[in-house]
Amino acid sequence: MVHTNVVIIGSGPGAHTAAIYLSRAELEPVLYEGMLANGTAAGGQLTTTTDVENFPGFPDGIGGSELMDKMRAQSERFGTKIITETISKLDLSQRPFKMWTEWNDGPDSEPAHTADAVIIATGANARRLNLPGEEKYWQNGISACAVCDGAVPIFRNKPLYVIGGGDSAAEEAMFLAKYGSHVTVLVRRDKLRASKVMADRLLKHPKCTVRFNTVATEVLGEDKPNGLMTHLRVKSTTDDKEEVVEANGLFYAVGHDPANALVKGQLKLDEDGYIVTQPGTSLTSIEGVFACGDVQDKRYRQAITSAGSGCVAALEAEKYLADLDVSHQEVNGAKAAPVL
Ligand code: FAD
Ligand code: NDP
Repeated sequence: MVHTNVVIIGSGPGAHTAAIYLSRAELEPVLYEGMLANGTAAGGQLTTTTDVENFPGFPDGIGGSELMDKMRAQSERFGTKIITETISKLDLSQRPFKMWTEWNDGPDSEPAHTADAVIIATGANARRLNLPGEEKYWQNGISACAVCDGAVPIFRNKPLYVIGGGDSAAEEAMFLAKYGSHVTVLVRRDKLRASKVMADRLLKHPKCTVRFNTVATEVLGEDKPNGLMTHLRVKSTTDDKEEVVEANGLFYAVGHDPANALVKGQLKLDEDGYIVTQPGTSLTSIEGVFACGDVQDKRYRQAITSAGSGCVAALEAEKYLADLDVSHQEVNGAKAAPVL
């Protein structure tokens, strides 16, 4: 069993930004990057996309995997120890916090690692619908992030579809309306879940149409390698009538699942399962446990906001460790984990 000051769990922009700050502060962080944790490669969500065009510093854009390789290299450069294993169990009931990896997670196994502070940066996954054709046209017309992908040329002046009835669907549809010829929002029920103000704005938008009681059933498109989607089969949920519509873009806005399995029942989560942090901070309901990135952000979910929150988590962890070092006492505020 190894003990260190601080362990970071995750491998997206949040985790690596925290690692860069903590290693430059000579706190010798250990980062567990996961081995296909939650079905995503080490490096997180950006490894599943092509060009990232809205991360500052790359005026010509940069590949998602390349950006994450660079962040990883920067973490290592300052001395972060990166372990390619998935943390499968975490005990936050007392300090030092204990964690087990997939490889040592037996009922009687010693924890693989203990730490005085933990940063949770496990991210989130956009929900998919598993429609026929989805795998084939994923990122070739289908996306789960309009803000990320909406501006690319394949969507310009083309009919676009959004699935979902929440605030994300409304926001994404209105964002896409800047680029597409028209945006249709498919809502499975007879009402929107979005807040009234967003719903009103969407319903009044001249370039958006909401089709209630309608679901997508199949994505159709070019039959060649890297072919693009061109059509969508949709079905009425009231009379089962189907039709094929022209669609060059399909954006899922059916919610995200924050990767909270490690902390469920230990940290305070909101009604959608996101870790609750004190506003403007990375502080969770347990002292010494910090959260950053998409696992605590259901509103923005961007690489740059994840990176920003990773910086906040590192600075707060650094202060916490310094206070711990000086006093070995509990600090005021959140529920303190008792010291062993
Ligand atoms: P994530 O990227 O969510 O990564 C967390 C990772 O930690 C996991 O994937 C996994 O590898 C690892 N992990 C999880 N659990 C464990 C565990 N128990 N043990 C060890 N490791 C674990 N944002 C933009 O700003 N611009 C874009 O162009 C853009 N394009 C996108 C395209 C796609 C297809 C997707 C899905 C997202 C896109 N985003 C984009 C959003 C962006 O990727 C996320 O906001 C960002 O990656 C979130 O970072 P994060 O630090 O929360 O971690
Ligand atoms: P939500 O969970 O609020 O909405 C998801 C939507 O997807 C619902 O309309 C749901 O339908 C629909 N849906 C789910 N599964 C399917 C499916 N299989 N087929 C078709 N439709 C489906 O997620 P959001 O991402 O929209 O919002 C998450 C949180 O973030 C909310 O609290 C929201 O208020 C907040 N947010 C706020 C914003 C703002 O204030 N501007 C912007 C973005 C998000 P149904 O209603 O039938 O369940």
